[in-house]
Amino acid sequence: MRLASLLSAALLCAFPCAAAPQMASQKPEVPVEKWTGKTILLIGAHADDDALSHGTLAMLQAHGNQVYVLTLTTGNVGTQDPKLSRRQLADIRRQEELAALKDLGIPGDHYINLGYDDGLLEFEDRKAVVENLVRWIRKLHPDVLFAWDPGKVYQRWHKSDHRAAAYLAADAARAAMWRLLFEGQITQEGLKEWMIPAYMFYNDTDYQDENTWVDITGFVEQRVNAGSHYISQYGPGWKNYNPNPTEQQVKDMKARVLDTIRTRDGKRIEGFRYYTGLPDSIGK
Ligand SMILES: [Zn+2]
Repeated sequence: MRLASLLSAALLCAFPCAAAPQMASQKPEVPVEKWTGKTILLIGAHADDDALSHGTLAMLQAHGNQVYVLTLTTGNVGTQDPKLSRRQLADIRRQEELAALKDLGIPGDHYINLGYDDGLLEFEDRKAVVENLVRWIRKLHPDVLFAWDPGKVYQRWHKSDHRAAAYLAADAARAAMWRLLFEGQITQEGLKEWMIPAYMFYNDTDYQDENTWVDITGFVEQRVNAGSHYISQYGPGWKNYNPNPTEQQVKDMKARVLDTIRTRDGKRIEGFRYYTGLPDSIGK
C-alpha cells in the first residue's frame, strides 16, 4: 500500500485523527498515574519481560484499568540447571508468572501465553505469529500497548527474542487496523479491526528515548514481591532450581528486585517511550 492511501484510509477510520503522525505527542495528555477505565496489553517474549513495568502495571490495575500480559514464548530454555527439561521449565515459568501477576492484582486469566519456543522466536513463521497477535489485539481492543521498544529512527538492538518481540508487536499493531489483513478473523471469527491509539515502549538498558516516567513510589512493594517469584531465572534457582526457596533466598531475591528499580528526581520510577499515532510511525 502506498503511504498516501494508507493515510487517507486511516483518516476514514473511526478513531480520532489526532492519531496523525505529525501530531504525535511526546507525553500522555493525561498522566499515566491518572489513567483509569483503559484496557492495557503488554506483549513480551518471556515470563518476566513484564517485570520492567510491574510497578506501572500494578498501579494501572489498582486504578480500574484492565491489564493483560501476553508472553510469546514459554521460556522453556533459559536455565543452567542440568536436571530441568523443557517441559518442566515451561511449567515453572508459567507458575512463576501467575504468582507474580497475582501480587500485582492481575487475574490469572489475563495471562496469555502463545507457546513459542524460548530462544527461537525470530525463526518462527513471522506471518503466523503476527496473525496470532493480531487476533488478541482484535479481541481485547487495547487502549495502550506496552512492548519492547523497536527503536526510534534507528533499529534498536535487543537480545534475540526481545528483538523479535519488539518488531512482531509493532507489526501486529499495524496489521490489526486493516480489515483486509487476516480478514478471516473478521468475516469468520466475529472480531473487529482495531487501531491501538497509544504505546508505552520499554527497554532494559539505554533509556535515551524515554519521554515518560511513571511514579511508582506507592507500588514498589508490589513490584518487589512480584519479582521475587522468578526464582528459576535468578539467584541459586538459575543453576539449581528448588521450588521452595529458603527465607534468606526470598529476602535476597527481593533485595535484588529493589536494586533494579530506578530513581529520578527522588522518586521511584519506571521509564517508557510513550507514542500516540498511527502504527506506521512508531519508529519515527
Ligand atoms: Zn526476556
